[in-house]
Parts: sequence; C-alpha cells; structure tokens
Amino acid sequence: MSADRYDPYDFANRRHIGPSQAEIAAMLAVVGAPDLHALVDETVPAGIRQAERIDFGRSLSERRVIEHIRTVADRNRVLVSLIGQGYHGTTMPPAIQRNIFENPAWYTAYSPYQPEISQGRLEALLNFQTLVCDLTGLDVANASLLDEATAAAEAMGMAHRVATAKADAFFVDHECLPQTIAVLRTRAAPLGWRIVVGDPFTDLDPAAVFGALFQYPGVCGDVHDFSGPIAALHAVGAIAAIAADPLALTLLKPPGEMGADIAVGSMQRYGVPMGYGGPHAAYMATRDAHKRALPGRIVGVSVDANGNRAYRLALQTREQHIRREKATSNICTSQVLLAVIASMYAVYHGPRGLKAIADRVHRDAVRLAAGLERLGFTVRPPAFFDTITVEVGPFQGVILQNALANGVNLRRVGSDRIGITVDERTRPDIVQAVWHAFGGSELAYDEGWPEPRLPQGLVRTSEYLTHPIFHMNRAESEMTRYMRRLADRDLALDRAMIPLGSCTMKLNATAEMLPISWPEFSEIHPFAPEDQAQGYRQLIDDLSEKLCAITGYDAISMQPNSGAQGEYAGLLAIRSFHLSRGEAHRTVCLIPSSAHGTNPASAQMCGMSVVVVGADADGNIDLDDFRAKAERHGANLAACMITYPSTHGVFEERVREICDIVHGHGGQVYLDGANLNALVGLARPGDIGADVSHLNLHKTFCIPHGGGGPGMGPIGVKAHLIPFLPGDPRSGEAGAVSAAPYGSASILPISWSYCLLMGGRGLTQATRVAILNANYIARRLAGAYPILYAGRNGRVAHECIVDVRPFQKSAGISVDDIAKRLIDCGFHPPTMSWPVAGTLMIEPTESETKAEIDRFCDAMLAIREEIRAIEEGSSDPRNNPLKNAPHTVQDLIGPWERPYSREAACFPAGTLGIDKYWPPVNRVDNAYGDRNLMCSCPPPEAYGEAAE
Ligand SMILES: *Cc1c(COP(=O)(O)O)cnc(C)c1O
Repeated sequence: MSADRYDPYDFANRRHIGPSQAEIAAMLAVVGAPDLHALVDETVPAGIRQAERIDFGRSLSERRVIEHIRTVADRNRVLVSLIGQGYHGTTMPPAIQRNIFENPAWYTAYSPYQPEISQGRLEALLNFQTLVCDLTGLDVANASLLDEATAAAEAMGMAHRVATAKADAFFVDHECLPQTIAVLRTRAAPLGWRIVVGDPFTDLDPAAVFGALFQYPGVCGDVHDFSGPIAALHAVGAIAAIAADPLALTLLKPPGEMGADIAVGSMQRYGVPMGYGGPHAAYMATRDAHKRALPGRIVGVSVDANGNRAYRLALQTREQHIRREKATSNICTSQVLLAVIASMYAVYHGPRGLKAIADRVHRDAVRLAAGLERLGFTVRPPAFFDTITVEVGPFQGVILQNALANGVNLRRVGSDRIGITVDERTRPDIVQAVWHAFGGSELAYDEGWPEPRLPQGLVRTSEYLTHPIFHMNRAESEMTRYMRRLADRDLALDRAMIPLGSCTMKLNATAEMLPISWPEFSEIHPFAPEDQAQGYRQLIDDLSEKLCAITGYDAISMQPNSGAQGEYAGLLAIRSFHLSRGEAHRTVCLIPSSAHGTNPASAQMCGMSVVVVGADADGNIDLDDFRAKAERHGANLAACMITYPSTHGVFEERVREICDIVHGHGGQVYLDGANLNALVGLARPGDIGADVSHLNLHKTFCIPHGGGGPGMGPIGVKAHLIPFLPGDPRSGEAGAVSAAPYGSASILPISWSYCLLMGGRGLTQATRVAILNANYIARRLAGAYPILYAGRNGRVAHECIVDVRPFQKSAGISVDDIAKRLIDCGFHPPTMSWPVAGTLMIEPTESETKAEIDRFCDAMLAIREEIRAIEEGSSDPRNNPLKNAPHTVQDLIGPWERPYSREAACFPAGTLGIDKYWPPVNRVDNAYGDRNLMCSCPPPEAYGEAAE
C-alpha cells in the first residue's frame, strides 16, 4: 500500500502492529464498529479514559533507534571488573550466543506448561537440573530462580517449612554476599523472623535458629568446611543451606558431602554476561527428603500416550497457581533462557572443560597472590579459590585509583583492604595491571603452573557430569545441531501465534533485541562505579520517565526481576507506609477470587492475611461483597489487589469506586499491571486511583519470555510511597528485593527501544489494535463457543474467555482435549483453566495479523465441528481426534486402527501444509511422572556413544 509508505506515523510502527490498514477495516466490519476510535469508546469506560495523549515526540525508525542507543551505550565504559561479590567475567561461547541467546526459536518461547510443544527447552532444563545436582552433591534441583539473593531467601523460607526446630531466627554467615544479607533481612522482617549475622564457627547457637546459610567460598575468599556447624544444626532439627559458587564446585568438595540440606547460588559465570546485574539464573538444590518443599519449577520425566519418554513440569500442585497463599513461593517467571544458556555452557565445555576453566582461574589467583606477597602485602586467606583480600593499610584509595587508571575495578573492603576476584576472562595482562596498581611494575607473569592453594581436605574427589549428554562430541557441528534439534521440538512465536491470555505474547522485534548483545550493556558489573554506567543511567532515567507518563505514577523502581517480585516489592512498600504511620496492625489484603495466583502468594510473603472477594456473573468484582469485607476489616485493612482490566478481560466500570472504598478505610490499592497492554495510551492506573502497580516488561513492553524468563517487573508508585521503594542491595540492610539495584538491567534496552520505535501515538494505536484483535476473535468464535464475560456494549478488552465446559457433558471433551488438538493445528494452546476452571483465555495482542488470527479461528471452528460429530454420534466418544491429540509423525506410519483418517489426525484446519509443526511426543501423562518422580537426566541408552 503506497499510502502506508509515506505516512511517517504509520511507517514507524507498521512492523509492530500486525493488521494492515485494510485488514483493520475488514476486522472492524466484522466486529461492527465504524472505526477504531468508536470501538475503543464502546469498550473502555469514559470515566477512566486519560485526559492527555502520551507525548514522547515523534516515533523513530529502527535505524534511528539503533543509532541513538549506540550513542547511549557508548556512555558506558567497559572496564575489567575483578570485583567478584557474586558477579564474574565469563565468555558466552559464540555458538551459544548465536544459536540460543540471539535465536527467536529459543527466546520467544513461553513457559513450558504445555509439555508436548516444549520438549526442547524441557530437555535443556533437565540438563540444567542434572548439572546442579552433580555440582552440589544433592538429589533434586529446580529449574532456576531469579538470582542468588532471592534463592537464598527461598532457602530460608524452605528451611522454615521443613525444620523441626521451632526457633524464629535464621543464622547468616558474615561472609555471605552483602546483597544476599540485604534480601534475607527484607524477606525475614514481615514474617517475624530474626536474622543473626556472624561467624559460623564462633557465633552460631544452633538451638536458637531454624536454619542457617553459609557462603562457599565467602565474599572475602574464605573456603571453609561447614560439616561441623551443619552437624550441630542437624542435632537440634535445624536446616543447613550453603550458597556456593558453581565454578568453585568443580574443584571443591560439594555442599551435599558436608551434609547441607539445601544449596543455592548463581549460574551467571556459566556463560551469562554480568549485564549490570542481570538477567541470570540462580539455582537451588536439596535432598530427596525435602523435594516437595522445593520452590520453583521442577522438570521431571514421564511418558506419553504411546509409552515414549517425555518431559514435563513435575509437582505443580506446590505452585502459586494452585496453592495461592499456601504456595511454597510466589515464583512464576524465573530465568529459563539463562538456565538454558548455563546448561549449554556445561554441555559445550563438559566436565573436563569446566574443570580446566576453574583450574586456570585458580592458578591466576595464586599467581596474583604470590606477586602481591612478593611486593610485601599480606594476602588472605591462606587458601582460596578465586578471591583474595589484600591488606593495604592507608593505601586503599591510591591503589584503587591506580587500578582504575589501568582499566581494572577492584573491590573496596572496609577502609584498609582490597578484594580481588579472578575469572574466566582474566589474562596475563590483567594480572600485570593489578600488580602495577599495587606498585609492582617489575613483576612478570610466569606461564609456569604454580602450586594450587586450595584448602587441604576440601579438594573435590567425587565425579560430576558423568552423564553422556555432557560428553557428547563437542565439535561445533554437533553442538549446533543439538541446539537446533531442541529448538525444533518447540513451538515459539517465530512459528505461530501464542494466544495466551494474560501473558501478552507479542512481537519481540529484532531491532529491540540487537543492543543487548553489545558489550557496553552486557559486560558491566552491577557494582561498578557509577561513572562507568552513565549510559545505563540515561536509559533507566528516560525509560522510568516514559513509564511514569504511561502509568500516571510518580516514580519507578527497576529492581524487581518478575511480575511476582514486583507484587512483593509493591506490597512491601504498602506495609512500610502503614508502619511509618504507626499502623502495624493493618495486615488484611483483599484479593478477588479471579486474581492471579502470584497475588495471594506475594501477600502472604509480606505477612498479610488474604481475604478473598467474589466475582459477579459478569466477571466483575462483587461490589457488595467487596464493600462488606472492606468494612469488616476496615481498621486492619492494608490493601486490596486488583487487576485492570480484570483477569476476566473486562473493563470494570466501577473501578474508581473500588479504589475509593479501600482508601476510605485507610488501605492502599495495588493494581496488578499485567494487563497494561489494554491500557497504554487510553487509561492510566495512577489516575484511576491505584497507589502502586507492577509492569510486566516481558509482557507489555516486548521483552521476550525466553521460555519462562527473563522478566522485569518494575513497580510504579504514587509520591507518598516513594520513600518505601526497594533499597540498595549493596547496603546489606533490609529493603532490597533483588541482588542488583536495577534488577535485570541489561534487557531494559528492549523496552526502551519499543517506546522509541512506537512513540506515544504508536503505543496507543497498539492498544487499540490489541482490543480490536480480541474483539474480532470473540466475534468470530461467538457462534460456536460461549464467550464468557463481556463489558458494556458486549465488548471484551484485549482478551476473551471461551467457555468449553458444556462439551464435557455433551461430548466428554475437556479443555485439555481442545488445547492438545490446537497443537495438531499448529498453535500454542491459549491459557487453560484460568481464571475460570475448564475454560480457555485467548489474547491475540496487536502484533498478530488478520491472516494468523483467521487461521486460529478456523482451527477453533473446525474443532467445534469435531466436537459436534461426537455430540451427534458420528464420531467415537473415546477414540477421536480430540481425545488422541496431539498426533505425531509416528502416527503416520505403522498400524492405524482408528475410526478417523491419518490425514484428519495430522492435518486439521489451520495446519500449514509442508510447514506443519510436528509435536515430538503424544499427550504426556502427568500423573505417571509425579508418581515416578525423576528430575535429572534419564539413563544414557538414548544418547548414543559418549565421545570426549
Ligand atoms: C504474568 C502475571 C503475573 C506474574 O508475573 P511474573 O512475571 O510471571 O511473575 C501476575 N499477575 C498477572 C495477572 C499475570 O498475568
């Protein structure tokens, strides 16, 4: 369309918005609205519409945005950071960078809740769990947490759940990372637990605690055998956890062999760049006895309908979406892509390669220490892995300055010491630059292999990574094909729409992704001096300003690493606000029954008690019930948590009234911002009456889901809550919710470039089209399926709920059957059984074209006809394409004794001919996998011959 090409407004964001002008017109005709503005007027209540347009100036072209971000990136200065403290230089192998990190087949996938279309990433995550179990010497590992500090907090929570000791204090090794101590303090306070920080060998009173956390190696380099303190803890029924560096564990005795119950840590140095704080995957492992108390996702092995091996998520009933305020944690999105990268790093290097890296790191630390000792400095500890602490008396400032001048960041320890941590990227010239800084310009790097200085008795003797997957032929041809094979098993956005209600699986534009690979963003240590991160400063400030303009809030904190962490941070701000006013008794949190499971789980973590409010027949909050409960708990009301538009996909007309009721009783309003994709440019949470929200940047603002993370869940607050935003994790004091001050800072360029590419007008247009696409689907499916919950004028918001419950009775067909049949059609199923059990929630987003949406609707309508055939008796109620879905390529060969054809089985409406997606397994048996729990790589037969 030539007109498009010359309309600068349309040109700039034409790629992000799926339907063309002509398609928009055709869709409007179907939904029965004269134009987009009229549709929005019919859908979004006038009373909540924002008064002014978002104005970010003109939208920019892709090339202009990249050029602009280039100039901002250049304001970051990449020095060598030997700061340590949980973050290390590392090299992502180029094969992994290009084939996973920069490959949409991996980064645009969703969380693996539908196992049949997720076998590739489930295998990679199973490799991750096997890696973690082997390194830690423990039995069961989960598939990643947000960062080491929150993993430590999860360990503390888990210790409290499983300990038989009934104390209310948790002991923390003074050698723990300061950011870990900070997050532990934050987490403990609302739950009424005391944090005792001290020396495990002199200060630990086992009888006074329910558990303890030790750091291995410690932040200043100490490497201790904790067997003694652990035995003492066990004697009184308390739990021992160790935060351990996974690279050190290739050389050192693992936590499991010291008797630890839990191990946690960061897998960052397994090939994931520091990224000014993230994203990276944390790990957590435990003994078999405690596996049911383990938080987070656990991948397990099961079988499919044909008895073939298949992976899927295990023990899901522990999770927030089922257990809500009784869940083991609020963890939802949790760094899957980064766990996949870490696992591939281990596959890429194998145990010998990893050990060689660790060995080289250690020898360089030894050389460095020896040189400093020759210069007359006292170096501690006497035995270490990669970290040493040098006594420098009054010369601390001078030496740090010298190091900076030589391009190296070192760590300030107290007033008279300097910490140095060696990493995979340390080279002879860096060692020499450090010596220079200490005045040793004459010292020469000796290539000879110095004697190790690992602590006696802690040298690892047990094997690890013996499974053949870590011994495959590591020629790049084989590695590339392995990554490709796994990617091909999965269905991600690069193949088909992922119409997941509430999850907003929209375009992750390539132009937005490019800058995050640049070293100016990826290679900055989160605790590097601020003058080296001026580009980040500009990015964070400008993005915060834009997000404030979009939401109507007064300030943003970028610290939370996921939506659930944002909820937690926001509720903590509310709690602190009440405390500051002497109203500690305000602990009741009203949450609608339709809320996302993370809402009640987060409230519980803040020491709040959840009171559930019902919904009326239209999917709105039952206002009478709400008012009554607010009244009943008035004096103790802390907050309500609402989602807007509601999780039912409706713009509630009376949302302002709900906010007024809560404020009238002295409570605060938390508005879950997961549905912001229906609001941007049209209405602002801050104007509606909310006090705080999280924004899922990995939903509305184009950060890819990565197969279940990374994510960013920054919170916006009104001015009165600004003093209670998350604090600086470096302080070691309560207040921080993540290990790094700006969470996963290195993925912020994605959201920022989205805003720049779209401009205010483009962002608003995206919202309108998201609403159009959802209403178009609702209209096309309405004759075949009941659409639950519409707002005024029969309009839905940006998503709609399709009711398939009647088919259980009429044809014995469940929501699962329909979801799995959609896989045969080449689609990721929509959100299943949430917020209403037995239904499907569909969210197309603005990025999907009419053609793709029609393909989806055609598939849904054809499925309806398959159901009708069962209802009418022309199809077997037990042996039909729905019950047997999904079908694999194996179903095309061998005997076929079904009453329908192979063609009907494998090529239903919507399939893309020769581009058909073939699921690698038939329907996965979840119950079998939970009965026969197996959470690390299965025995080798299937992997062929090992090849070192
Ligand atoms: C996705 C979502 C969340 C949780 O976000 P995570 O980033 O996965 O932790 C919370 N509430 C709603 C309504 C959501 O859709």
